Parts: sequence; structure tokens; C-alpha cells
Amino acid sequence: MTDTHPHTRPRRPKQEQEPASEEVVEVAPGVLRMQLPIWMPGLGHVNTYGLVDDRGLAVVDPGLPGPQSWKALRQRLKAADYKVKHVHTVVVTHSHPDHFGAAGRIAREAGARLVTHHAFSTWTVKGPSPQRALSEGEARRLEVEAAAVAQELDVPPDEIPTIRDPDVVPDDTDEREATSMPWGTRTPWGTVNPGPPLKRRLLIRAMRLLFSPPEPTDRVHHGERLRLAGRDWFVVHTPGHTVDHLCLWDPESGTLLTGDHVLPSITPHVSGVRRADSLKSYLATLDLVARLEGVRLGLPAHGHPFTDVPGRVEAIKHHHAERMELLREASLALGPATVQQLSREVFPKRHWGVMAESETFAHLEHMVHAGEAERWEEGETLLYRVSPPSAA
Ligand SMILES: [Zn+2]
Ligand SMILES: [Zn+2]
Repeated sequence: MTDTHPHTRPRRPKQEQEPASEEVVEVAPGVLRMQLPIWMPGLGHVNTYGLVDDRGLAVVDPGLPGPQSWKALRQRLKAADYKVKHVHTVVVTHSHPDHFGAAGRIAREAGARLVTHHAFSTWTVKGPSPQRALSEGEARRLEVEAAAVAQELDVPPDEIPTIRDPDVVPDDTDEREATSMPWGTRTPWGTVNPGPPLKRRLLIRAMRLLFSPPEPTDRVHHGERLRLAGRDWFVVHTPGHTVDHLCLWDPESGTLLTGDHVLPSITPHVSGVRRADSLKSYLATLDLVARLEGVRLGLPAHGHPFTDVPGRVEAIKHHHAERMELLREASLALGPATVQQLSREVFPKRHWGVMAESETFAHLEHMVHAGEAERWEEGETLLYRVSPPSAA
């Protein structure tokens, strides 16, 4: 599930909004792009990649649950001379239903292994271990320990760059994440969440009753290798869009499967789901994928293949920096203000609502963690004040 940045929503449809084409195209050696229809705001298709080898194929992100998507998947496989039973591996880049929907059914029907990041969790699949809040003492101790190793390690030739930063969600996180909005409850920033319109709410409820998300057979970590399309792909943990997001990097052909981490023309949604700096994890892991050596091709979960991964990373980072400057201006004009008030200053009225607020919340928390804003509570509501630009 990805959301376009509402304020940049184009008049002409962006490539991520194009309807699913029936064409199956080999976009990298042994890598087939199959587009499946999805029904989500701002998105017209999801790319399911088929990675072909002499045992059959692996599929990455096999679309939404339900018969329509399943039918399209079978047609695409057939167009490439495959059947569901030829799938030996399913990889899911992250815990959004347009990516994991058919994963469980393929795994069952084909006896395939089902690979996700270690932290994968959904409304029924509760991640690797129960969530536990750190006590303040523990948090301080961890921070001190992490600070001691808070520089990047030199990268041995056959390993991949790794982030050592106490503020970035670690690869071995046991954190579970609400993978959808907490409908009908209080938001972390203190407003009452009205939830989506009734029709959509009923759809979501029906989906949750009728469909159980997949149970992974293999939970993998940053730096692990998967043998796909006859060569080794590195797992790259890229928390931000979700804490369990992974990309797959093939140094041999210079290909990066980017999932929803880097999209070719829209900015992936980063929500502040709790009082943590999710944007910092996102920005740090954007830099991480931009630094991977020899990447010549990005294969996104939505939209067309693109060549300049570092350039796209820069554009997305620039976008976030601009949004934070807008928030700074709004805050300086308003004085102490809530997330809702600030989001209404920086988003046009037609986009007001919980998605805009959750992104505003992520930006504000990022500025709080960077020492550029203050946050305090009044009752259950959070108030923020962003500092003027520093003279430095
Ligand atoms: Zn997506
Ligand atoms: Zn997503």
C-alpha cells in the first residue's frame, strides 16, 4: 500500500497509476515483469517479478488477495509458459496487502517457500516475537552501546553496506508495526481517528474475515543471500515505508528490486505510527541503496523499470527536505500547533485527513529527534513548535 504525496498528485496519471498491462516483459536477465491490477488510491498495478531458473521460478510481490488478482496472475504466468505449480519461492518485500495477498495461496498450492524480512507482521501474523517496550534504562544502555559502534563499518568485498545508527530500525528488530490505520481509535498525535468511509471500512473488515495473511517459512536478515534466477541476490533491509521492508540486490547484473522503497515517479508514504523517527530510518536506507555498487537498474513494485537509482533517491530526499521547510514556515507563523493544524497548513484542503496527518507527524518527529523542534503534551494531544532556521 503506497500513497502518493497528495499535494504532488498529478493531473496526468503517473506511471504508478497506469492500469495493469497484460504484457509480460523480461526486464533483466531471467527477470520477468508481470503487472497485476490493484484497487488502491493512487496506484493502478503492482509489479510481480518472476525470477526464472532451471527449477521453475520465484515470484516477488504476487499482488492482492482475491479471485481477480489470482486470475490475472495465472494468465501472466501462462503467457510466460508457467503454471502456479512451477513457483518454488515467493518473496514478499513488505507487509502491505498489494504485495503479500497471493503469497500464502501460491505457497500452499505450489509447496513453495515463502520469504519475508525477519520483522514481517500483519494483523494475524505477529512478527518474530511479542512486542515489548524498552524501559528507559534499557533504552539508554542500548543507545550508549550503539553509539560506541555508531560509525559505518568497512565493507568486506562480498558483504553489503550496513547502517550502524541507534536511531535507525535495526535489522533484528522485534518491533511489530500496525500495518494499517488504527481505525476508530486515537492517533498517536492525539486526534480521534474517524477511519475510512463506511463502504471502505466494510471492505476492509470483509477482507480481514475472509483472508488470512501468509505465514513466512523463511524470515531473512540484512545481508543474507537468496539464490534466484540462477544467481545470488542480497537481502537489503530498508525500514521506513514499513519496518519490515526489504530490497533485493543482484551485484552481478546490477539490478535492485526496490519494492516500495524507491518508486520511479511518486514518493512512497512514510507514516509516523508511533513516537519514533521513522523518517530517519527511511532516509538512511535510501542513502544505503544509493551507495550499492554498480546498480544500473531499479525494478520497483509500481511503475516502470528505471536506471538512475541514486538520482531518484536524491529527488525523494529533496522532496522530504522541502516538506520539512514548509512545516517550519507554517510553525513559525502559527506558534505552538497540533499535527492536524500543521498538516492543514501544508496540505490542500482536499487532502486533509489521517494520511496527511500521519506524514506530517513523521516529519515533525524527525525534526524533534534532530533537535529542530519541540514537542509536548496537552492532555492526549501533542503540540509542536519548530525552531527558526539555524544561522549556521
Ligand atoms: Zn505497494
Ligand atoms: Zn507498501
